Amino acid sequence: KRRLMVAGNWKMNKSPNEARMFAGFLASSIGNENAVDVVVFPTSLSVAGVADILKDTSIKFGVQNIYPADSGAFTGEISASMLSDLAVEYVLVGHSERRHIFGETCELTGEKIKSVLKHGLTPIFCVGETLEEREAGRMKEVLETQIRKGFSGLGKSDLERIIIAYEPVWAIGTGVVASPEQADEAMKFIRDLIASLYGVDLSESVRILYGGSIKPENFESLISMENIDGGLVGGASLQESFVQLVAIAE
Ligand code: 13P
Repeated sequence: KRRLMVAGNWKMNKSPNEARMFAGFLASSIGNENAVDVVVFPTSLSVAGVADILKDTSIKFGVQNIYPADSGAFTGEISASMLSDLAVEYVLVGHSERRHIFGETCELTGEKIKSVLKHGLTPIFCVGETLEEREAGRMKEVLETQIRKGFSGLGKSDLERIIIAYEPVWAIGTGVVASPEQADEAMKFIRDLIASLYGVDLSESVRILYGGSIKPENFESLISMENIDGGLVGGASLQESFVQLVAIAE
């Protein structure tokens, strides 16, 4: 099976000092010979401090968002090109909070993926349907649109460098986790779509993470599913439970 990843999206939590302290806790709690990839996403304000703490560990880190230009008059934004100073490896793109709270379009997510790839970083591209869309029977259509537009203009060699995260909006921060079968069904659909767009080999190697109300109690049954290659964790990544999640995946 594909190598598992356990990723923690800290969202707008932890001050720079708190982030450094928590990164230190993770560094001392998570061994250096991991059988899984462990990645954390602090705020942009904290990423330099976290980078400093994690530099000699196996824990990787990323940012939660970038703007798809290298520099210029984009008040409040950061660019992928700035991240090389800090050994950042990953960037979240298209998180549902970016789409729904900040109105990010599929076209903008596509631009962001290109910018992340151009600077040699790995995008974790998030897709997912709302409850309303699921109940209207539109889940597959929504996922397909997000993927086709997000990946527009990308070739197979680009896709080899991308990780996908399926995060149903109704499961994010709600305590309502998707059942392993629901998550696997959606992720199989994504994998089949990747097969039709980029070929079967790529669909078998691309990693797809599940995200939405992951906790130590439900993680094992999720990652035991064929199409689920790990988790993108919000709330449970802010505490000691993240260490438990890594141990479950190991
Ligand atoms: P929760 O784990 O808090 O539901 O958040 C999931 C998420 O949005 C990760 O990106």
